[in-house]
Amino acid sequence: MVTMTTYPRRLHDLELLDKCSRERCVICLKLGCFPVYVRPRAELGDENFNLIPLCYQHSNEKKLVGWRTMAKKYLNVMFALETRGWRFGRGSKLVRD
Ligand SMILES: [Zn+2]
Repeated sequence: MVTMTTYPRRLHDLELLDKCSRERCVICLKLGCFPVYVRPRAELGDENFNLIPLCYQHSNEKKLVGWRTMAKKYLNVMFALETRGWRFGRGSKLVRD
């Protein structure tokens, strides 16, 4: 007998992602953003506290340098992380208490 295994699909919270993408980049205030995950989506999923809107340029910069450097360079990123409950723990890893 052939059985099909189904895995639970991880669905995106499209409404939340859409809302985040319509916000302004927290750095340059440009419209038309990418919802950027603080911790990987596979880890925490689509949650308000896990998403920060960044424009194309700044989301690319974040990919290259990471949150720690971004937070040092841009006060608004540090503020966005803090208001979502994040802080840098040991080894500059982002943690949420
Ligand atoms: Zn920007």
